[in-house]
Amino acid sequence: MNQLEEYRGREVVVLGLARSGVAAAKLFHQAGALVTANDRKERSQCPEAEELEALGISVVCGGHPDGLVNERTSLLVKNPGIPYSAPPVAEAERLGVAIVTEVEVAGQLSKAPIIGITGSNGKTTTTTLTGELLKAAGQHPLVAGNIGRPLCEAALEVREDGWLVAELSSFQLKGTADFRPRIACLLNIAETHLDYHGTMEDYVASKAKLFENQTGEDVAVYNADYAVCRELSNRFAARKLPFSLTQELAAGVCVVPPYPSIKPLEEEPDLERWVVCRDFEGRETRLIRVGDIGLPGRHNTANALAAIAVSLAAGADPALLEEPLRTFRGVEHRLEYVGKFGGSHYYNDSKATNPMATTMSILSLPSPLILIAGGLDRGSDYMELLPVFRTRVKGLVALGETREKLRKVAEAAGLTDVKIVEPVGDAEGTLRRAVEEAAAMARPGDTVLLSPACASWDMFPSYEVRGRMFKQSAHTL
Ligand code: ADP
Repeated sequence: MNQLEEYRGREVVVLGLARSGVAAAKLFHQAGALVTANDRKERSQCPEAEELEALGISVVCGGHPDGLVNERTSLLVKNPGIPYSAPPVAEAERLGVAIVTEVEVAGQLSKAPIIGITGSNGKTTTTTLTGELLKAAGQHPLVAGNIGRPLCEAALEVREDGWLVAELSSFQLKGTADFRPRIACLLNIAETHLDYHGTMEDYVASKAKLFENQTGEDVAVYNADYAVCRELSNRFAARKLPFSLTQELAAGVCVVPPYPSIKPLEEEPDLERWVVCRDFEGRETRLIRVGDIGLPGRHNTANALAAIAVSLAAGADPALLEEPLRTFRGVEHRLEYVGKFGGSHYYNDSKATNPMATTMSILSLPSPLILIAGGLDRGSDYMELLPVFRTRVKGLVALGETREKLRKVAEAAGLTDVKIVEPVGDAEGTLRRAVEEAAAMARPGDTVLLSPACASWDMFPSYEVRGRMFKQSAHTL
């Protein structure tokens, strides 16, 4: 992509009127481009249209008209979620029009160097924690991207002597060309989003784009516990700063003594394990005991190692990182501690929308554990949950479309405390009933966990609404 000013007087199409699209449309308009913003949604569902039109931007809603992208189009800025098969995108490809996502635009505009964080799981947690660590180290971070404000808006707000800390999805990265973060971080790669990417190769290639334009002046942080990440790292031109739970590293951030596995399959004394950092000059710091990290769970320890590595690469003094690592309690709806009610400890993990995430969460918390689960049925049989149901779950309360499937898993695991909550009135009433059933099963000292293993859309508008209703119900027990 060219610099923004080079689009003065030229036609730019912005596809998708989500917040990032609106921000991009405004920026190109300000730079003097002739912007057309388009969304498939009906106009009544595009509240931003009026604001853009008031600025003099042309807005087309209710479909993608023929000729939207044509020979005069200089650039197509597409929302990351819109597939490359969508007609205007396919047309742009046919005509050789450059197609970018808003991330590319932000990369051109940012006054500060960029930290880009991607991975299949843990992006929001790691990006937020990185922001906290850099703040504690006096480094003026601005956190943006998938979380909070659109990246290209933040790119203009960030201080020149700060860092733009960007959470980036594979969808966003696929639409980049020249994007070059000063520090790039790859957390992990799991089989996910194959409906969008088609193949695992395409998904991995999208993640790899984060590192493609880096040079020896940049730093690549990656998870040395994943073979796919290690293989990719052979192609990195940047200086490498890996992190690992299971291996001691000559340069990087690791746990000493290392864990036998990235999964917490057996009880291990975390208090005896230390997070150790070794920088490029060979200096070693014993930073914090794993057991003193505020975030629960082995997967969150991996997220913390990543955030530490990124902060060190950004020049943070390791001595300043211990305090925020102790006090950071995570992001709402991700193993969020709700409180102690009737002697039991309640956790909200509404963001766990697949069995893998729920498994990790169950393994991260003390048992005996009462699990509240269930939601949108995507066709899985949920038998993946069987091992943790056998070893860690004392009782199950199931709701939503998948409630009967979860009952079968619980029966196979030999659980006797199983309650199926049929819909009663609205979703809020049903969830409240589920919380009351869980409270009736729990004994003082037990853990009560909402970790649905399913998306929320069968009953709730979002996982956030589900999580907030859960917390409200717990507080009013
Ligand atoms: P993302 O932004 O990538 O969706 P989040 O930080 O929001 O990730 O975490 C979402 C869920 O993913 C968490 O509730 C947890 O169950 C799971 N998770 C988080 N970090 C990891 C990790 N490093 N490895 C595996 N699973 C993880």
